Amino acid sequence: MRVSDVGLRTSAAVHESDVCIIGGGVSAAMLAEKLLELKPGLAITIVEAGSRIFDVENRAKYRERSLEYGENAWPGDFIDDQAGAGVISRTMAVGGSALHWGGVTNRFSEEDLTLKSRYGLAADWPIAWADLERHYCEAERRLGVSGEPGALPEDTRSEPYPMAPMPLSYNLRVLKAWAEKSGLPFQGTPQAKNTQPYGGRAACLRCNTCEICPTGARYSPDFTYKQLLDAGKITLHDQTLVRRLVKSADGTRIESAQAVRRDRDGERVEYRAKTFVLASGYAWSAHLLLLSEAANRSGLVGRYMAGHAFIGAQIELDATLYPGMNEQHSLISRQFFRCATGVPFVRHDLRVWESSSGRDPRLKDAEGKLLLGDALLADWRTRTVRGAARVRAYYDVHPSKESALTLDASKKNRWGDPLPSIRHVLDEATMARKAATREHILGVFDRLAKANNGRVFNVSEGSYLDHPAGGCRMGTDPATSVCDSYGRTHDHRNLFVVGSPTLPTAGCTNGTLTFVAVTLRSASEIARS
Ligand SMILES: Cc1cc2nc3c(=O)[nH]c(=O)nc-3n(C[C@H](O)[C@H](O)[C@H](O)COP(=O)(O)OP(=O)(O)OC[C@H]3O[C@@H](n4cnc5c(N)ncnc54)[C@H](O)[C@@H]3O)c2cc1C
Ligand code: SF4
Repeated sequence: MRVSDVGLRTSAAVHESDVCIIGGGVSAAMLAEKLLELKPGLAITIVEAGSRIFDVENRAKYRERSLEYGENAWPGDFIDDQAGAGVISRTMAVGGSALHWGGVTNRFSEEDLTLKSRYGLAADWPIAWADLERHYCEAERRLGVSGEPGALPEDTRSEPYPMAPMPLSYNLRVLKAWAEKSGLPFQGTPQAKNTQPYGGRAACLRCNTCEICPTGARYSPDFTYKQLLDAGKITLHDQTLVRRLVKSADGTRIESAQAVRRDRDGERVEYRAKTFVLASGYAWSAHLLLLSEAANRSGLVGRYMAGHAFIGAQIELDATLYPGMNEQHSLISRQFFRCATGVPFVRHDLRVWESSSGRDPRLKDAEGKLLLGDALLADWRTRTVRGAARVRAYYDVHPSKESALTLDASKKNRWGDPLPSIRHVLDEATMARKAATREHILGVFDRLAKANNGRVFNVSEGSYLDHPAGGCRMGTDPATSVCDSYGRTHDHRNLFVVGSPTLPTAGCTNGTLTFVAVTLRSASEIARS
């Protein structure tokens, strides 16, 4: 036993419940909500390291200060000494990263679940598409998603979207007509934003600042937590960091979670529960398991860290656009979610936004001459005769086993725990097709441009993997996975991991709807257990 463990196990306040959920992000919110419907009266405690930011009434003010002074719209949503190399979002608060997500809720496609059997790549998921699709519908209902049915037969849904789609702005209508000249079908991107009052929240006003929504139209997990707390259905301990899971003597169960109260100078709390659920997101779930030396008989905790890569560009086109109408909304084509077998593998989404790139007013012309008054306006007018679109493709890349989250002994938090370090490593097949993938995607951008006398400019490639996942991948074989398809760890029968960490691969589009769908699927099994 380490010295820090001895300290952890003495003189702690003990808190008991039926289910102890560690982490208070969107996955935990959805899990708690569903568990309480399946088993009313279940004693659920949610332990969240960050603070409660239940101040929807202040959001208009934060938004204003962020617009006027460039201030952080989410002050206090992170923990100073709880960070890690390669962790792309610092948010640690009740609600997690989805406090300020964009609310884009694309589904993955059947191919994501069958990469191995279809293409001989990466791994199959131990979940059938029809099963996941059912849980997508449920996730969309719970989050409140507005969207329009897709044009492709593969995108058939078993239920309509809960809400009518967000109307396309004038700019997006022009861009849709332009983009479809390429022969590719486009539709408005589905979003967890209300187009009518829904879930006790208002309809979207299209004010264009979705990372801080002043109306509550964009789903945010703090609403769910507040509803559950107001109804007295959950216990929420915020500012409480779980540092270790303690195993039973025979190692088959988790006996307790040992935590410290950040708001009370490190006062210790011991959580005891029949069932423990790790809902701590892609970085901190594997981190806690590694710190606890738990669930890792396979040696795969923190391995196969996944995400998708991306390439973006701007396209100049023959159309007059008026940037600023609703930059948060976009078009998507799902044409390339599918890839035939027997041809070079490439899968990606394709998004189109209005753009003001190169079209903002400027005080100096290209030669550096000062522009004022009429000269400024004349310069601005000439540069807006043609419009611009922003395009981006998230593309499917697969992690190798070496794609790892490890404990970095050289960086510790104030409690002396080593912090995580994530290094993404793609598998050989992904690396071998990298150049061809790039060429294909740039070819698609070119196809869009050429369909309307356009020009591609400002091509850029992502330097990280977006919508990260993995680290506790699901599977049927305990030798090659950390948990089963419901997130139950192979090693400890009362320990589940939910959401993003359990994904074997991370698709080629925004991941959160999928994280929530697999969490809701886990909820049924957790309720049964
Ligand atoms: C700016 C931005 C925009 C985004 N837009 C989109 C989008 O449009 N569409 C989309 O699909 N996704 C989007 N995302 C990603 C999305 O926000 C995340 O995928 C999602 O919120 C992850 O939820 P989660 O519940 O898995 O984890 P998290 O939100 O990370 O929640 C986990 C929680 O666990 C807590 N925790 C961790 N360890 C411990 C511990 N040991 N003890 C106690 N608590 C702990 C953390 O503090 C955290 O609050 C966006 C992200 C950002 C940052
Ligand atoms: S555009 Fe809609 S969802 Fe976005 S911030 Fe405004 S009201 Fe909220």
